[in-house]
Amino acid sequence: MRIGIDAGGTLIKVVIEDNNTRTYQTYLSTQLEEVAAWLNTQPCEKFHITGGKAKILNDLLNCEAQMSIEFDAANKGTQILLKEQGIHLDRYIFTNVGTGTSIHLSEHDGQKRVGGIGTGGGMIRGLGYLLTQISDYETLTNLAQKGNRDIIDLKVKHIYKNDTPPISGELTAANFGHVLHNLDQTFTDADKLASVIGAVGESVTTVSIHVAREHHAEDVVYIGSSFHNNPLLQKVVTDYTILRGFKPHYLDNGAFSGALGTLYL
Ligand code: ADP
Ligand code: MG
Repeated sequence: MRIGIDAGGTLIKVVIEDNNTRTYQTYLSTQLEEVAAWLNTQPCEKFHITGGKAKILNDLLNCEAQMSIEFDAANKGTQILLKEQGIHLDRYIFTNVGTGTSIHLSEHDGQKRVGGIGTGGGMIRGLGYLLTQISDYETLTNLAQKGNRDIIDLKVKHIYKNDTPPISGELTAANFGHVLHNLDQTFTDADKLASVIGAVGESVTTVSIHVAREHHAEDVVYIGSSFHNNPLLQKVVTDYTILRGFKPHYLDNGAFSGALGTLYL
């Protein structure tokens, strides 16, 4: 048995490989002591760790674990999952939408970090809480799926009313820019959350496609736990990536790329 752990800012991702079976588990980063206590019941050579909290985790262990740099681990895991899932890409951007968002160019000889943005899963939860007082992740994301962005977000077509816009009218001109035009309407919690997810998805996609263009890549692979229970985020990112002329990809268990990759570095 081998155990790969990616201890991130919000979640601890665990991949257990035993003969030919692979198991995926997630814990909150606040459960780091619990995870360390479990690891301390296992022989040390079995586990490999990575992520921003890998050092704190290592300090809680009875022995020195094998540590790797999280960007390299995510790259390795993404490569493994792409291959297993029959997606053949040589050169691509991968965007890790975690607590924050980190963007990388992946090539034969490894990855290079080419961008990042502070919008990500942390913003969905934090701004989502400020707007709705909901702290439970599943409750927040379930509610957001039913939201209507039309009265909150200003689209290009809203500005170019009765005229032909020079760019797609469906593009967002101003996130939250439609609110003051619709003060006679009721903004529900679901609507507000859907618009937060829209802003996060669109900003993450915008930075991703800009670096894809800069580095002459056509494909963008989106990973990270922020897509968990959030098909709306995936839809925003997919539609916007395609609208801008690039190819989006998602992986089953993509959120575990780092935890898996750390086993193979
Ligand atoms: P990190 O490596 O920074 O911990 P992840 O890739 O694990 O980042 O993504 C963290 C994000 O995933 C959170 O900000 C949140 O949007 C989302 N998420 C998914 N599942 C949960 C959960 N059970 N609890 C809290 N956040 C979750
Ligand atoms: Mg992470």
